[in-house]
Amino acid sequence: MSDQATDAADQPPTFADLGLGDRILKALRDIGYESPSAIQAATIPHLLEGRDVMGLAQTGTGKTAAFALPILDRLDLTQKPPQALVLAPTRELALQVCEAFEKYAANLRGVHVLPVYGGQGYGVQLSALRRGVHIVVGTPGRIMDHLEKGTLDLTELRFLVLDEADEMLNMGFAEDVETILADTPVDKQVALFSATMPKQIRALSQTYLKDPVEISIERKTRTAENIRQRYLMVSYPQKVDALTRILEVENFEGAIVFVRTKNETETLAEKLRARGYSAAAINGDIVQAQRERTVNQLKDGKLDILVATDVAARGIDVPRISHVFNYDIPTDTEAYVHRIGRTGRAGRSGDAISFITPASGTCSSTSRRPPAPPSSRCSSRVSRRSTSRG
Ligand code: AMP
Repeated sequence: MSDQATDAADQPPTFADLGLGDRILKALRDIGYESPSAIQAATIPHLLEGRDVMGLAQTGTGKTAAFALPILDRLDLTQKPPQALVLAPTRELALQVCEAFEKYAANLRGVHVLPVYGGQGYGVQLSALRRGVHIVVGTPGRIMDHLEKGTLDLTELRFLVLDEADEMLNMGFAEDVETILADTPVDKQVALFSATMPKQIRALSQTYLKDPVEISIERKTRTAENIRQRYLMVSYPQKVDALTRILEVENFEGAIVFVRTKNETETLAEKLRARGYSAAAINGDIVQAQRERTVNQLKDGKLDILVATDVAARGIDVPRISHVFNYDIPTDTEAYVHRIGRTGRAGRSGDAISFITPASGTCSSTSRRPPAPPSSRCSSRVSRRSTSRG
């Protein structure tokens, strides 16, 4: 794989390039997102322009921010009836989406987001709706109940998102979804996200989306054969222990550990140093000259581990990197391919180990002992479907 040339040529866009406003950009900086994921880069500009979008995207790709950021950017805070509705198949997803909206809206004063799902009493939902909310995130059944009772006013709706649309249909919500779509203003903007594109979803899109931009993040690159790829199921609190145990048993020379946010590069590098490793962080906030010095230290063997974000590690070519760790899973397959391509350089072999965090803490969350090293727990294939929603 000759990805050095590609690394230089396809610099990813920044969030500012996508046209997002300053207060949202600041929230993203504070969270530590360094650059947009593929689905975000492809959808946000169209959504900001007001186009309908149909996106083929799985959980873990960053699709929530792909629709949440443009909605927040275009929100009219003076409007009382709800202006955005997100339909999600499950209560868990609805809550996650709400939390994401709140996180991204940290610098927009007075944005109200309400989760609306079955199983919760009506009282809380009714009083919040009466007070006025800008964004409603709900499961189709409960949204229908509110519409039937006349307690949810969607007459002023401007944005409608169908999140995990295929799941909603699989769960038997097709009729509810169609009723809700048909009951909302004609000139609203619609975004539909689905992991698969069965006939029903296509039909839904043809009926309810206006000239949608279709976005599917294609897998263009392949991973190199000389890199052994394994994964490890590990719950979030055990990641550091798991990493250090693997480092103890694997015969590693130099390593890059990939995390999602800039803040996490610093935190994890610090934890590794406290455990006796010579580790340093590199991220997009560290000036180029300093980054180069750090990479040179890795080259010279003065440093063994780099904890990096995708952007900072782009194009790094250090033959002694024997291991790449996906401590946080990347948002798309392209990023995965680029990350693990930091090892196995110059005809050598390399190892890539990805940490998969189960969504529901089923894995080793009850055990105090860190998981066994990867020789017994890792499989030789990487499974993207098990990615946690984070
Ligand atoms: P989602 O696919 O929306 O469920 O997002 C999966 C995870 O990726 C969540 O933990 C998000 O916080 C995280 N995430 C989303 N966008 C980015 C980004 N641009 N950079 C880093 N992490 C991100």
